Amino acid sequence: MKAEIIAVGTELLLGQIVNTNARYLSEELAALGVDVYFQTVVGDNFIRLQQAIHIAEDRADIIIFSGGIGPTQDDLTKDALAASLGLELHIDRQAMDNVEAFFKNRGSIMTENNGRQALVINGATPLPNETGLAVGNAITVNNTHYVVLPGPPKELMPMFYNQARPWILSHALTGELPLYSRMLKFAGIGESALETQLLDLIENQSDPTLAPYAKESEVTVRISTKAQNTAEADNKLSALQKQIESRLSNHLYADRDIPIEQVIIETMTAMKLTVSCAESCTGGLLMQSLTSIPGSATAFMGGIVCYSNDMKHKLLNVPADLLEGEHAPGAVSKETAEVLAEQIRMITDTDFGLSVTGVAGPAYSERKPVGLVYIAISERGGKTVTHQFNFKGNRETIRIRSAKSVLYQLWL
Ligand code: ATP
Ligand code: MG
Repeated sequence: MKAEIIAVGTELLLGQIVNTNARYLSEELAALGVDVYFQTVVGDNFIRLQQAIHIAEDRADIIIFSGGIGPTQDDLTKDALAASLGLELHIDRQAMDNVEAFFKNRGSIMTENNGRQALVINGATPLPNETGLAVGNAITVNNTHYVVLPGPPKELMPMFYNQARPWILSHALTGELPLYSRMLKFAGIGESALETQLLDLIENQSDPTLAPYAKESEVTVRISTKAQNTAEADNKLSALQKQIESRLSNHLYADRDIPIEQVIIETMTAMKLTVSCAESCTGGLLMQSLTSIPGSATAFMGGIVCYSNDMKHKLLNVPADLLEGEHAPGAVSKETAEVLAEQIRMITDTDFGLSVTGVAGPAYSERKPVGLVYIAISERGGKTVTHQFNFKGNRETIRIRSAKSVLYQLWL
């Protein structure tokens, strides 16, 4: 099943908006096992829109449109598609009720052009719009499937997921086996290092398929297969997972889509262990992520945000000569990270003390480069382990990565 996405909008061509709809749709179609071969962008122009449709019909089995279904003159997607298919449009009663109710509730007069948002191509299935007014369309003509979605992402995403996706599964993917996916989550390894380890598996994939999945500061691989039932899918997915694990076993922290903080809290709770944090450059992000997990109180005891040198010294007993002075290691150093982790563990009487100190930028500090981060993990009755990182990115990215990396190292 080959797909093409046609994003409609002159704003896209002018570079005024980014085509995030294409990205979303591509990811979702991949998850359905549909291959997206082309992404097209075309302006709000009837003739060129028709040209794009004709080109797509020659090379795709399913064509997904985004945008150009609003009330105004430049919203032409349905008109151009209907004309291409030689079909008429009609006003869908239910969609029209929805549009009229919207204006009635707002107490404003509905202008006539708003009726255009209720247009449906004759023979098409209307796709209700849960978060807006323009109704979507789905139709199959001559074995080609057409799905028309609105432009605003907050309308397109729910319409795709709740309306178009089931339609595609039951109309376009009939006879095909259902798709099953599993998320593999990795700690303490970068995306490119992971890809290198799995390169032959990625290059020679057939069934199951595997794809690195983009997510902020998390390394995730989605493996998918088509199967008769859950048991068969589980077998196939587990076989591939075993292969991946044999190469990266110590980095795989979960085979479902859960964040590292959840695994940490669950594991510590199960083992009756406790943890505390001393945070500098992350300003509490680490504690925020741990406490975002319901039930974290059994494992996470508390901590201190020691942002200034003064606080590091007064609250966590970091010796002044470690922090300041010409030859002192400074606040951003292995030594300071070590003391912070040990002190917070002792002060709170927990099994683990975690610390993070670094240069989040944008300016360098202590003549140290932006992105230089030290973390330390102190264990009761054990030694204190430190790690140095050189993160790239802006302040926010560096802070998020720093917090995540403490959790990843703790898990490892
Ligand atoms: P409306 O009813 O708002 O007119 P529409 O379905 O006609 O919706 P467009 O007019 O093409 O859609 O776009 C409306 C808005 O949706 C754009 O201004 C933009 O903010 C957003 N949008 C449109 N296309 C995309 C896209 N491909 N990716 C991300 N956002 C988009
Ligand atoms: Mg519009």
